[in-house]
Amino acid sequence: METKQSTSGSPAKAKITTHGNFPLVKHVVYGRGSFSQLGDILLPQRKNSEAPVIFLVDDVFEGKTLASRLPLLFNDRIIFISADEEPKTSQVDALVSLIKQEYEELPSGIVGIGGGTLMDLAKALAVMLTNKGTSADYQGWDLISREGVYHLGIPTISGTGAEVSRTAVLMGPEKKLGINSDHTPFDQVILDPDLTDGVAHDQWFYTGMDCFIHCVESLEGTYLNEFSKSYGEKAYELCKKVFLEEGSDAEKQEQLMMASWHGGMSIAFSQVGVAHAVSYGLSFVKGVRHGLANCLVFNHLDEYYPEGVALFHAMMDKQGIHLPTGICANITESEMDTMIRVALSMTPLWENALGKNWQEKVCAETLREIYKKI
Ligand code: NAD
Ligand code: ZN
Repeated sequence: METKQSTSGSPAKAKITTHGNFPLVKHVVYGRGSFSQLGDILLPQRKNSEAPVIFLVDDVFEGKTLASRLPLLFNDRIIFISADEEPKTSQVDALVSLIKQEYEELPSGIVGIGGGTLMDLAKALAVMLTNKGTSADYQGWDLISREGVYHLGIPTISGTGAEVSRTAVLMGPEKKLGINSDHTPFDQVILDPDLTDGVAHDQWFYTGMDCFIHCVESLEGTYLNEFSKSYGEKAYELCKKVFLEEGSDAEKQEQLMMASWHGGMSIAFSQVGVAHAVSYGLSFVKGVRHGLANCLVFNHLDEYYPEGVALFHAMMDKQGIHLPTGICANITESEMDTMIRVALSMTPLWENALGKNWQEKVCAETLREIYKKI
């Protein structure tokens, strides 16, 4: 998207925004217990008995009730995947090869069940089954030309907004960047708050803060517009309820699930900002997972987002969260340079955060100082 300054001179209409014509998730079902509709939802998508549904499931569910509730038919297959590391282009390519080797027909559908890791793997696999080459070739914007296989997402932890977004973020050989395309969003999403039972407290906080940080970066950014603002404000308000106020666990599960959705919608027509740019560098070099990496960075961004960072500190206190320290204590000069290179390559993020002349406001030294504190 592109933001242009108006020449009208009216402060109320200071910005005219032009943007793409983006598709949204086509179908969504929300509610406790809605996971049980999965079989019925998949039935009309099944092409024939030779075209399986492939279920990519976070391996935290291996041997658990959720796995036994999957509506398997014919030659369907469950592939359990660890979310210990962020999804990689090589992992997507290996899944494509495996499916093409084992089945004569393209799958009827890909179902992703888990956090952002599994959401992104499912989205990337669906489009890479119909587009040639390696997934690393498609890290960028609008490089996917063919429609993917039907894909359905079921989040089991809330915050990333990956269930609603137009991107599948992957770690590639050279960069951490998403496959952003009109074919990436899910055809169907099932939002069942029951499935977020069992998330560890610290992980719940880190992934939830991803949502909070999406809102701060969108609402404080120069790309802001009424579309993004309406979703961002709602998600911001829900995050404050979840992380600062009293409430039942059930209420908080439902509120955070919707905050994640709205936070994702908010950045559809804006962008994230400084925390995400710097966090991408940290994840790329140190393998720190997205939610935690964002928290580690955001913790030191009071200069850029004073109000957001003050609230973040209050949320950490309220939730009894202690961030790990010394992550960058022993990094080499070349690792530091790579982190800085990756972070500074995120042009749209910096432009959203600091404006068109962002390069005059941030340099390698600024980032080095932030990384040294982590
Ligand atoms: P995750 O998928 O990395 O999972 C975090 C941990 O929570 C894992 O250990 C997982 O096993 C566990 N977990 C998930 N559900 C659970 C449950 N119900 N019970 C117990 N444990 C559970 O977490 P995430 O923070 O949701 O996703 C991070 C990923 O999302 C990163 O790779 C990031 O790049 C990506 N991301 C994508 C987008 C997008 O728009 N596509 C946006 C933001 C982040
Ligand atoms: Zn994020």
